[in-house]
Amino acid sequence: MTSRRHYPQLHVPEISDTAGGPTSRWNSGSVLFGDCATWYADEVGMPQPAAPSGRDSIPPVYLPGRETCKSVHEKYQKVSCDENIRCLSAVSFRRIWRKCLPHIVIMNHRTDVCHKCETYREQIVKAVTEEDKLLASNEFSSHIYTAQKERDYYRARCQAAIKSLEERPKPRGPVTPASADSPDVHHTFDFAQSVLLPSHCRQEGSLYLRSPYKANLFGICNDGRLLQTNYVFGEDQSMGVDGGQSHSATAVVSMLHHYLSTYSEGEKVVYLNADNCGGQNKNQVVTSYLAWRVANELHQGIYLHFMKPYHARCMVDGMFGLIRRKIRRSDIDSLGDLKMAIEASSKHNKAKLVSSVSENSWQWYDWKGFFKSTFRAVPGIAKNHHFHFSSTFPGIVKVKKSVDGEEKDIRLVKRGKHIPECLPAPVEPQGLSPTRAWYLYRQIRPFVRGPHKDDLCPVPSADEVQTGANVTEE
Ligand SMILES: [Zn+2]
Repeated sequence: MTSRRHYPQLHVPEISDTAGGPTSRWNSGSVLFGDCATWYADEVGMPQPAAPSGRDSIPPVYLPGRETCKSVHEKYQKVSCDENIRCLSAVSFRRIWRKCLPHIVIMNHRTDVCHKCETYREQIVKAVTEEDKLLASNEFSSHIYTAQKERDYYRARCQAAIKSLEERPKPRGPVTPASADSPDVHHTFDFAQSVLLPSHCRQEGSLYLRSPYKANLFGICNDGRLLQTNYVFGEDQSMGVDGGQSHSATAVVSMLHHYLSTYSEGEKVVYLNADNCGGQNKNQVVTSYLAWRVANELHQGIYLHFMKPYHARCMVDGMFGLIRRKIRRSDIDSLGDLKMAIEASSKHNKAKLVSSVSENSWQWYDWKGFFKSTFRAVPGIAKNHHFHFSSTFPGIVKVKKSVDGEEKDIRLVKRGKHIPECLPAPVEPQGLSPTRAWYLYRQIRPFVRGPHKDDLCPVPSADEVQTGANVTEE
């Protein structure tokens, strides 16, 4: 880090106000800290085009992943030394950073970076002539501009949904489909990272080397009510053996179908937003399902929208963030504990377990096999971001590449086929293979707290297959 005189224009006066330091020493240290951090972030940080929802003020700036709070503090210490100002301690440095410059964050391996943005940045840096630089920066601006347009559309839809449901009380039970006139109902759905169980505040180190029980989390947020339903299912409750097909399109549609049948507002027209992932959300099974819904008048119209990949932070991510924070501070030994943690994370989060034997419990269906002979895929689906289904043109989808792009009709129903009126055949969860069941029993069960050992890692019913992996370490 260079001396302060190289960045005098980056004075950040509000730092000293908000840091609330009692002495002038503190204040001067804070001001220098603000200058340093902002300058350093400008110099090496990677600014993002938009702030995630919930932190709508300043878009984040990512510092390179090789940095740590300690290494940035050391650079700051050096500058303080050069400037002959007493510097903040590492603890105060960290505290003021978090409080005053929360948008400057160190990138971690989970930070999604847009490949296109990265390429454009590199082109701008490497451009030799003025023309090349101008061309690269124009392309970059146009990329950011299109991402921003999609994002603005998403935000406008969410705002409209909040306004539309403001005066309406929440329905107590399932509502007859397409019976209510709420004009702007908006739902967003996505998978969270799987949760590994057991998960304790004081995690035992040796558990990290093993492969614990995997719980999957799929959230659907009613953006108008800020209410997220989180579908929770373990690896033994998936459609495939040992958690296979947990994140498949058929699984997505099964949960979406349960959600729309149970928790919808009974709206005639619905707006859906999903993550731009081909395997899970943007595929033939999902488009076929939505076409099937409007043909059966479960909705009169459905708009499905995808934001640009890596520029798509949405409400669901924010809700997952609250859940992750709660999980880190809780002891979780079963899916029941996980449900409690999710519901305690915020009043906006609700959890739904697959195992709940009650009315409205959910079920896997073979949607993929069901639609295979009737519907065809949308050609070039990856390039399109807006899909409109309507009962006035059943079997057809209108697609657009961008929010203000040209609309194109695509026929989804195969020639001579009729859209079925029934439901597909239910699929029973496939459970665990004997190898996995014995692995959990031998390797993971010892870490599970007493009363929950039989919930998470029960004694397997099948005979043990002897492999190197399932011999217990003593
Ligand atoms: Zn980008």
